[in-house]
Amino acid sequence: MTSADIRTTHTSTPNRPRTATILGRSDDAPGTAGIVLRALRGVRAPDGSVVDVYLDRDRISAVTAASAPPPADGAAAGGTHVHEGPRPLGAEIDAHGWRILPAAAEPHAHLDKALSAPRVDLRQNDLESAISQWRELYASIDRADIYQRASDAVRRYVTHGITTIRTHVDVPAAGDAMRGVDALTRLRDELRGRVTLQVVALVASDTPTPVVEEAIERGVDLLGGCPHLAPDPRVETARLADLAERHGLDVDLHTDEQVSLGEGAHDVDIAELAEQVLARGFAHRVVASHCVRLGSLPPERLAAVLELVRRAGLGIVTLPITNLYLQGRDAPQPAPRGLPALRAILDLGIPLAAGGDNLRDPFNPVGRADPFETTSLLVTAGHLTPAEALAAVTTGARTVLGLPPVGIDAGCAADLILVPDTDLGDVLAGQVDARVVVHAGRIVADSRMARSIDLTGTAPNTAEPTVIDSTGPTVGTVPMYSESGGERHVR
Ligand SMILES: [Zn+2]
Repeated sequence: MTSADIRTTHTSTPNRPRTATILGRSDDAPGTAGIVLRALRGVRAPDGSVVDVYLDRDRISAVTAASAPPPADGAAAGGTHVHEGPRPLGAEIDAHGWRILPAAAEPHAHLDKALSAPRVDLRQNDLESAISQWRELYASIDRADIYQRASDAVRRYVTHGITTIRTHVDVPAAGDAMRGVDALTRLRDELRGRVTLQVVALVASDTPTPVVEEAIERGVDLLGGCPHLAPDPRVETARLADLAERHGLDVDLHTDEQVSLGEGAHDVDIAELAEQVLARGFAHRVVASHCVRLGSLPPERLAAVLELVRRAGLGIVTLPITNLYLQGRDAPQPAPRGLPALRAILDLGIPLAAGGDNLRDPFNPVGRADPFETTSLLVTAGHLTPAEALAAVTTGARTVLGLPPVGIDAGCAADLILVPDTDLGDVLAGQVDARVVVHAGRIVADSRMARSIDLTGTAPNTAEPTVIDSTGPTVGTVPMYSESGGERHVR
């Protein structure tokens, strides 16, 4: 069965609920988190059409023109079998006035470091000074501390439409090496079904191999490291690749997080990584994160390196906000920027993901955990088109992370963002606050908030103000129900 089959307009007699729950206006009080969805009606698709989107647990089962009858259970027009199992559970929501996008994935975060900025005297950090400031701070940080800040950070990511987060976690040579691994694998397991966390062991070059193996034993999902900071990047790349092969793990390495080039043929570490992947016939997925040095290579060398990267099947993750902050500080004018050669990467069809990297810590004192902050930077600093920028935080990010594809199409993962139906450019500029976020067919965040603006020149509002407190808008009861065919889960 192809997705085209299930997109067929359905003409069979519908089992249609008479009333759909209405999502309402974008400034209504939030109240839908926890609801499992069966259908979103009347929502604007990325191509501008207005559609009904049917969900069956963690997948989109059909997309039809709005107000067309829904697919009948078990059969689409022409007799094609659609649903194998029983009727999908969940609520049907009238989402007129809303626009639907695939959910974003954050391809590179550091949840163990996130939100630590208030504890340090933030200097104007470059990469080296941020690392030493973090190491100093990390000595006083335990499991509970990491778990709490990481949980708080995840709430920010999910609120903004990110339903999958790949986080690196320090596996240091000194102190209790497992505190970050334990805190983040626990959080990952607790959040399963609400948000997908992938935990990458970020191995320092002086972390002994048996310590790395213990981290693998304790359940990290991938192996990572920083060959570009090792005394011999080639040796460190080989050590990590050996370990990954032995344990059957995918690899995501911090790569070339400098603007200055290395020596001779080894001017960039990503070329060494690609060569080793090809020479070994490495069977697992390999991602290179940062790759800032690619932006400093002369054109001919860049073309040769990227051809190698393409042949080796590597994915690249660019992290504009952190690398624009960290890199290029000590250079004479014009300052190099912390970005790989994005246009050349896209032109060769190399999978590209974009994310935020650090969040309010010594490596990046700002940041909103927001994919549309990243899209803004990709457009202004990276010179991508808005469509390319959106792809880098959604479909491209999921390709690089090895996740099932997202899109507004049958068969795609039911990971979605609903935003008010305004111009897509407003959304990518980060102008749109209200978001309803769906992971695996379930609403995991609803961040509508009330807004009051006085610019009309009408008579003053003399109504008694209701109590305003510092806790933000009250979560009210939204009239939400589904008349037939399913249960509703509310936490
Ligand atoms: Zn990083």
